[in-house]
Amino acid sequence: MAMVKRILLIDPSDPGREVLARRLVAQGYEIDEASDAVKGADMALSAPPSAVIADLWMPSISGVQLCRLLKSEPATFDVPVILCGATDEPRNRFWAERAGASSYVLKGRMSELVRAIKEALPSTKKSDSFFVQLSGGTIGIYDRIARHLDTALFDSVISSEIRALASAGSFERLFDQLGQFMSQVSRYRWLALSTFGPGRFAIHRHPSRRGISETQARLALGIGSDTPVLDIEDEDALPEEDGPEAIVCDVPFGPRIVARVALGPIESYEQDARSLMAIVGRELGGAVRMAALIEESQRVASTDPLTSLMNRRAFTTVMNTELSRSRRYGHPLSLILLDVDHFKHINDRHGHAGGDRVLVALGTLLRKFLRVSDHAARWGGEEFVAAYTSTALAGARIAAERLRVAISELVVEDDAGLPIPLTASIGISEWTTKETLDELVARADSAMYAAKRGGRNQVHVATLGSEAPVGEK
Ligand code: GH3
Ligand code: MG
Ligand code: MG
Repeated sequence: MAMVKRILLIDPSDPGREVLARRLVAQGYEIDEASDAVKGADMALSAPPSAVIADLWMPSISGVQLCRLLKSEPATFDVPVILCGATDEPRNRFWAERAGASSYVLKGRMSELVRAIKEALPSTKKSDSFFVQLSGGTIGIYDRIARHLDTALFDSVISSEIRALASAGSFERLFDQLGQFMSQVSRYRWLALSTFGPGRFAIHRHPSRRGISETQARLALGIGSDTPVLDIEDEDALPEEDGPEAIVCDVPFGPRIVARVALGPIESYEQDARSLMAIVGRELGGAVRMAALIEESQRVASTDPLTSLMNRRAFTTVMNTELSRSRRYGHPLSLILLDVDHFKHINDRHGHAGGDRVLVALGTLLRKFLRVSDHAARWGGEEFVAAYTSTALAGARIAAERLRVAISELVVEDDAGLPIPLTASIGISEWTTKETLDELVARADSAMYAAKRGGRNQVHVATLGSEAPVGEK
């Protein structure tokens, strides 16, 4: 035998409610009525009905609040709520839907309401025979609503803070700001983030807990020791060595998981951290993608695609910083300009692809021959530029000469496997404190042309007035 479905009708207007109740009884439903939203919420929580029909706008508690309350309480979370309103404004539907209502029906549309009830009531739905009696007698509906609003507010504030990290612009800044924010709203031993494509790994931890925190974070996120760590240490993370198991959350962006976030909790804040991390995992994806895209576009804009060296623009930016540092600390700096000899001939003889291969090989060689603190770039065409930082002329001469020899010994083959003979002419200029980058490069350039005039495959030094050869073959 089919069991009678009990529907709770909450509507402050007595005539309207009574008419509706009669018609629903005629449809075979059992009806409980409440003229007041608080009383209605109380009734729903004490004896959950099969469905609730409520007015969207009621005094004291709105239908939206009522619906959110019922959806967040364990006794009523699966009770369908149908909200009714007097107007067909889109915003009514919007709020009803956001509050978790199964539908929004215009008042007076009886057949629509009956259809909505039928759709909302699952056939296996529990009936009146199943009661959930809440303990404690009086149910503080206002307290519950206040608590629920607090939770909703917490969720929306945390969400918007996490989403705002999209403006960080880089992985480093994103993680630094995430750590600062998280330590304001919770307490933990460590916080870690790993991203995929590009693969990055960062940790925020207490200064005294370097090894143990990193080990636990790598384990929690499944990050091998080959991925370098971006390590942020400060006293905002707690010094406890051990605590409950790490909390790990996936960070999706659309259908893809773009990162994972993990946290080493402490006992007293574990629950807190868990709800916080659920929001972080849910909301951080946009910021992670944005940081990756910004970094990638910056890399593309500053890198020469053929040789993977810096391009001229990036070199200029780096050198402006480098020159002001040298000026401040009184450090010397030398610059070389390198131009491949008879490159037109190489292209003609070995094809453009052969020429390109020469340029790639030169890029690799330059990276190998320079210190980490030096800077090399493709200046244009078959010209390269490099800055030897903290290096005076004598040292630069030795380095440039070694480079010249290495270039002449480089073995590059064309598509047919034929070796491409290769030499370069190099001009050096030592920076004088009054000089701009343009002037420094211009002097190296004229020294390089002097090397060409001198017969190529040689290094020339720019003095402030003239150029002097260093060595040649
Ligand atoms: P010199 O010894 O006087 O420097 O002679 P050169 O032939 O190297 O002189 P020039 O500067 O006139 O020629 C440079 C050539 O480099 C011309 C250009 O077609 C070629 N080139 C510029 N960029 C590229 C590139 O990206 N790939 C290749 N394959 N060739 C390039
Ligand atoms: Mg040239
Ligand atoms: Mg050339």
